[in-house]
Amino acid sequence: MEENTIAAISTAFGMAAVGVVRISGERAIEIADKVFKSISGKTLSKTRGYCAHYGKIFEDNEEIDEAVALVFRAPKSYTGENVVEISCHGGIYTTKKTLQIVLKNGARPASPGEFTKRAYLNGKIDLTGAQAVMDIIKADNIQANRAAIATKNGNLYKCILKIKNELIKISAHICAYIDYPEEEIPIVETKALLNDINKVKSEIKALIDSFKIYKIIKEGIDTAIVGKPNVGKSTLMNLLSGSSRSIVTDIPGTTRDIIEESVSIGNLTLKLCDTAGIRQTNDKIEQIGVKIAKEKLNCAQLVLALFDYSDELSDEDKTMIEKLKDMPCIAIINKLDLNKKLDCDYLYKNLKYVVEISAKTGQGKKELCDIIEKYFETNKFEPSQAVLSTARQKQSAKKALDDLNLAYKELKNNNTLDAVAYLLEQAVNSLAEIDGENATDDILDEVFSKFCVGK
Ligand code: GDP
Repeated sequence: MEENTIAAISTAFGMAAVGVVRISGERAIEIADKVFKSISGKTLSKTRGYCAHYGKIFEDNEEIDEAVALVFRAPKSYTGENVVEISCHGGIYTTKKTLQIVLKNGARPASPGEFTKRAYLNGKIDLTGAQAVMDIIKADNIQANRAAIATKNGNLYKCILKIKNELIKISAHICAYIDYPEEEIPIVETKALLNDINKVKSEIKALIDSFKIYKIIKEGIDTAIVGKPNVGKSTLMNLLSGSSRSIVTDIPGTTRDIIEESVSIGNLTLKLCDTAGIRQTNDKIEQIGVKIAKEKLNCAQLVLALFDYSDELSDEDKTMIEKLKDMPCIAIINKLDLNKKLDCDYLYKNLKYVVEISAKTGQGKKELCDIIEKYFETNKFEPSQAVLSTARQKQSAKKALDDLNLAYKELKNNNTLDAVAYLLEQAVNSLAEIDGENATDDILDEVFSKFCVGK
């Protein structure tokens, strides 16, 4: 049974005040007893769940560190199994050594996400909740955290369950109607059925739509700040980030490298990249910066394109505007505090989103932030609503929607109710991949392999 007990360092690798080695499985407490001796002399085997002891870690008779061992007894633990968490000093050597001794005494190394996989397999958590654990760990802003917590608390699970039940109810009615014509089963009205299917379709569509916006909330937006040299890119970056990280001077070509910084705008994190001014230059180093700037521009999810209010539009600007027409772009007219020379109308005519600011004084900053939030609709994000978190979940929802679209068509074309009922059941199966009711081993492997070791 040895391989049934797993162990891993659960805290981040590096120097820290505390490092935790987690052991889970039938022999967790017995193994921990071989490694850890409490000061009181009490063994962990004689310890109740949720109790901790202060003591020392030994390898043979040599003291390795002092530690606290916390005992959880099955099924009242994260994994549903016996668990011991040994909190030692968070040194690279001490945590690694503690784990090594635990492994030497009969545990095997946990694979990524294996603790959470066990929690799932032992019915402590459903698949949406397991996924949410990873989102909680990764969350770097309040909205991402709120959505992950809501999912962990069962929001998505309940939503999927509700949709599945609606579909099961419709298909059960159809099947009963077909199979028991002699019984007094209410007639299946095509119009009502089409309405029912449409209702479920829009619920699934809302879930699919939530994926894109939640991804943006979680991961932020790759944003390139572009414009000719000296237009105020670095100043804008500093205004948005509230620091003075970019070098600001009035010598064109100062920003030779790519400076990246994350800033929060309402619900949104912009991963800003202040690029070298895109221009013809003979300076070899600046040429590299210009090349990278162009690449960043091409793959950015948002381009903040700056234009100088106090200068006329150059041919270079006009070429840029043509290119920006096909890009996710917000044009920013900067240096509003100076006298106007820019043909602003040209910008308003050619680009959809235009905002006027002074990066130097901060005028127009709020309008810029509002327009960015509106652009990505992150101002509409409601973390308490059910959201899809992974591409896999979205793919399953999409499969369910495709089946419902087909069912709708079948019905419209007066095809058999059998086919409709079959498609509705298929949709239920696809949705069951999301909450785990129908998750294959491949799906589980895919979900948990993305976890960190120790979680
Ligand atoms: P970059 O080359 O596009 O990164 O431009 P910088 O941010 O380095 O700015 C170039 C010059 O323009 C600096 O002297 C800034 O202080 C100035 N500048 C930037 N934004 C504004 C603004 O809104 N108003 C005024 N008056 N000057 C600005």
